[in-house]
Formats: sequence, C-alpha cells, structure tokens
Amino acid sequence: MLSVPNFFNFSNLNWKSSATGFRLGKFIFESYLYARQYRVLKGLTNWGSYQDLDHEYFGNSQKYSQAKLKYNYVKDIFDLIKDLFVIKFNVYAFIWKISGRVLKASSFLPQSELFQTLIFSAIARLLLFVYNLPLGYYFNFVLEEKFNFNRSTIKSWLFSDLAGCLVQLIIDSTTISLFLKTVNYFGKIPILQSTMLTAAIFFTIFTIYPTFILPLFFKASPLPDGELRTRIEKLAVEKAFQIKRISVLDASTYSSHSNAMVSGFPWRGEIALSDTLLEDLSTDEVVSVVAHELGHLKLFHILKQITFISSSVGLNLFLLSKAIQNKSLYEQFGFSEKFVVIGFLLFQNIAIPLNLIVHLFDHYYKQKLEYEADYYSAIDCGLKEATLTGLSKIFKNNLNSLDSDWLFNLYHRTHPSSTDRLEAVRKAISKYTLDSTR
Ligand SMILES: [Zn+2]
Repeated sequence: MLSVPNFFNFSNLNWKSSATGFRLGKFIFESYLYARQYRVLKGLTNWGSYQDLDHEYFGNSQKYSQAKLKYNYVKDIFDLIKDLFVIKFNVYAFIWKISGRVLKASSFLPQSELFQTLIFSAIARLLLFVYNLPLGYYFNFVLEEKFNFNRSTIKSWLFSDLAGCLVQLIIDSTTISLFLKTVNYFGKIPILQSTMLTAAIFFTIFTIYPTFILPLFFKASPLPDGELRTRIEKLAVEKAFQIKRISVLDASTYSSHSNAMVSGFPWRGEIALSDTLLEDLSTDEVVSVVAHELGHLKLFHILKQITFISSSVGLNLFLLSKAIQNKSLYEQFGFSEKFVVIGFLLFQNIAIPLNLIVHLFDHYYKQKLEYEADYYSAIDCGLKEATLTGLSKIFKNNLNSLDSDWLFNLYHRTHPSSTDRLEAVRKAISKYTLDSTR
C-alpha cells in the first residue's frame, strides 16, 4: 500500500512538473468557475427575493458584478503567469542568493539562516507589493470609481496599502522567527506544538485587532449617547455581554461600503461600527447588524474557526515534515542546501490539491456560521424584520451581486450569496412563527 510517508519519500519525483501541473490545474478549475458565474450573472432573472428593487439598481448591481468578475479573472491570469515564472526560473533561489549577499553586507546582523530567511521574506513581500500596485490602482481608481465606491485619494490609498504591507512584514517576521526557533529547539518540525502556537497567535490577533491594528487604518470615536447606544446596551444586557467600548470608525473616508465588528470574548468585548452603516441603516437595523456580529462571538464562532485553522496547519505541517526531507525538492528549484522555510514555500506548490480541498471546506464552514449568526439576530434576539431589511440595505448599498453560482460562491466567498441569506432568514422566521403559534 502507498502510505503517505512512502509517497513523500519518492526522491525521484519530479516536483517541478508536479508544481506546474497543479498550478495550471488550479487555474483551469478557477476558469471553469468564472464561466459558470458569468452565465449566472448574464442570464440572471431571480427577482423572487427582490420584488421591491428598481430596475436601475438591478442593472447597476449586475454591471458591477460583471466588471468585478472580469477584473478578477484578468488578475488571476497575471497571477498564473507570475507563479509559473517563479517556478520555471527558480525565482525563490534567486531571491535567496540576493538575501545572502544583503546579509553578508550587513555585518552587524548575526550571519544565520534565520536572518537570511527574514531578509528573503522582506524582499519577497516588497516585490509582491510592487507587483500588486498597477492592478490595485486600476481596481480603486478606475473600476470602483466608475461605480462611485472609491473615496480614497492616491495618497491615502498608497498609505493604507503600505501600512498593510508593513503589518504583513511584522506578522511574517514574527511567524518565521518563532517557527525557526522552535524547529531548532526540537531538532525537527514540532507538529503538535506548532499547531497550538498557531492557535495562540490567531487568538491574540483576533483579540488585539480592534485595539491595536484597526486604529492604524481608521480614526475611531466613541458612539454618542442616544437611542442607538441605549438599544445596543439593552441588547448586551439581555445577552449577558459586557461592553468595553462602542466606537464609530471613519470608514467613509476610504469607501462607501458599510461594516460592523464585535470582538473580544463571548462575555466581554468591544463593538466597532462604520460611519457608513449609521448613515444608511435605521436604528433597528444597526442593532440587528450588531446582534449578528455578537452572534459570532456568543456562538464561539471565532474559537471554532481558530480550531479549524490550527488543525489544517497541523495536517499541512505533518505532510510538510515528510516532504522537506527530500533533497530533490530543493535541488529541482535551484537550492543546494535544505532550508526549512524555503522547504515550506516550495511545498506550497505541491500541496495545491490538498489546500484546494481544505479551502472549499473552510468556506463551506464559514458560510454555515454566517447563517447561524443571521439566525441569532433574527430569532434569538427577536429582530426579525430589522434583520431582513438591514441585510437588504447592506447588500443594496454594497451592490452585492444578487445571485451567484453556488460552486463559484463556495470557492470565492466566505459569505453566502445575498439571495441565499435573505431566503434562509425568511424561512427561519416563518418556521419560528409557525412553531410558536402551534
Ligand atoms: Zn457574519
């Protein structure tokens, strides 16, 4: 029988052709999904849930969805070319060589694998940042502009993108340092310990995100006293949730998309609302959006997601620890020695089919959690009408595509389509009403 360790000990396996094949296969699968979605958007006649919508809005939403679909497909073609180029011309080995030279020139730094890896990841991250600029510019200042979504200037866009890149760099460096130090300490990849560490890191990020990371991007001010504040506080008391802070973010400076966030622990945390949400929605509807977010926390969704992420990291590490023992993996990509983090990167090319399955399952699970949070808001918090109208308004203001091919949606979105969500809430309400009148 072909057991997993034996399979990965195939020292004469052609890693490079496998990587190329998997990457191409992924693109073909994605193209198939685009074709399915495009057909849905072109021939969309599902008016069932949207009888109150006017034709102009409907047409705009479809045009926006189609424009975004085309943009994403072009971006995917560029990404495919970039990835195939990286595989074919041993780009990682090239960047690795440059990192070695930079390290040698910086004699004040410790001359170690860790520091060469950190320089490598910084160069790779910066190259990726530059690579993303032209298409990012097109997306914000041509596409979003055309549909009146863009509110950023070139300066504010560059600044927030650069800030995002820096945050990524800090996360990368921390992860790499911790990972390499642990591998050195244990003398091998400690699968169980790394899995637990991942969980701890994600937990910390989720917890500190609103306090330390969000203020880097948005200006937050406390929600003023008034009906909305009273209603949110009343909901929190009912659901035994202690509010640390309710703030309003100046999201409208960047975009007119509306959003809300509840973070912390299921019993205590903070709430952040985008100012656009307050502009567009009624008090009841904003409360229903807060209730949805509170549902995520109360139903332990964040904990469940961290568990899922950590277990998939564990599975990946197990396979990785088998794969990176092969010298041929490094040699075929232009490396003369084995380096753990490089092995991890190269392994990602081989792990495409596995990652695809994990990705689909991850989205299936996330969509399930969205339905649960909607249910929490509509039924558990008794905000039936507000949940429905609030969702409709958000979809309308964000020009969410009204309908979507289910497989495309599962692959690309962590949220179910607008139609599916509204339908599920309606079903839940009528079932609840029927049950309670019985
Ligand atoms: Zn949600």
